[in-house]
Amino acid sequence: MSTQSIPLAGVVGDPIAHSKSPRLHGHWLKRYGIEGQYVPLHVPESDLETVIRALPKMGFVGINVTIPHKISVMSLADQVSDRAILIGAANTLTFRPDGKILADNTDGHGFMANLKDHAPEWDPKSGPVAVFGAGGAARAVIVALADAGVPEIFLSNRTRPKAEALKAEFGTRVQVVDWVQAGNMLEDAKAVVNTTSLGMVGKLELRVPLDGMKEGTIVNDLVYTPLETPLLKYAKDNGCLAVDGLGMLLHQAAPGFERWFGQTPTVDDELRRVVLG
Ligand code: NAP
Repeated sequence: MSTQSIPLAGVVGDPIAHSKSPRLHGHWLKRYGIEGQYVPLHVPESDLETVIRALPKMGFVGINVTIPHKISVMSLADQVSDRAILIGAANTLTFRPDGKILADNTDGHGFMANLKDHAPEWDPKSGPVAVFGAGGAARAVIVALADAGVPEIFLSNRTRPKAEALKAEFGTRVQVVDWVQAGNMLEDAKAVVNTTSLGMVGKLELRVPLDGMKEGTIVNDLVYTPLETPLLKYAKDNGCLAVDGLGMLLHQAAPGFERWFGQTPTVDDELRRVVLG
């Protein structure tokens, strides 16, 4: 019998039952024949520190972190990546053998990798990108777009001061557009990204006038339940390239898997099918 312990990983959140991460990582573990386990961990805020300090002692090599812990885990890490600092949140912790906890944010990587997969012709430097929303996901998207060299980012949010705050933080490349005029920013946009929760099952639709979008515009919705949101349906029906949000979820998981289990995983159609169940 082997004396080596089986590496464990998981996702920590509250609630957690809806998480697709166990299915996703479980598929990769099986595909690559890795003797490891990935489990959902329901952890309320009051237990977060105790649980995270205990996990490495129980054989965990790392965890994903989801709502509502993405900000608070940063204070528990010994080292926080520049990306996570910039975004102000972490979604991936790695427990090093020396006991140190590393925090990173891979949402921006997931976002860009999804666009590269589905819109390989898109050159980020080719023109402006319009972004709806100024919440946590928008921060990762804006950092990734700026990093990729997008020359101008039009940003519109229902609560304008939140968009202004992002502009103050991320610089002059971000131009704030009032929510009631959000339709105007679509005319010059090479790509459009919805980072609001509008369009999600159980939420309102995004009601911004979309007729300014030109044919060929890349339209990405971060919402992936449903897979085809009303925004993506409009895009498809009007000659735009619609990119759903599932790929971002799949790609953001890859860096963690690689660090914890030592194998670079592939995101492909089979994985999409497995995760969609
Ligand atoms: P968040 O921080 O709570 O931000 C929510 C955003 O939605 C804010 O900009 C908010 O505007 C806007 N919003 C909510 N209700 C609205 C309404 N009725 N009218 C106009 N705007 C409204 O959430 P988040 O973490 O950024 O997540 C946003 C969405 O992205 C969620 O659906 C999430 O599932 C999805 N997401 C997907 C991925 C992926 O991998 N595909 C990753 C991360 C997030 P206000 O500021 O005005 O409230």
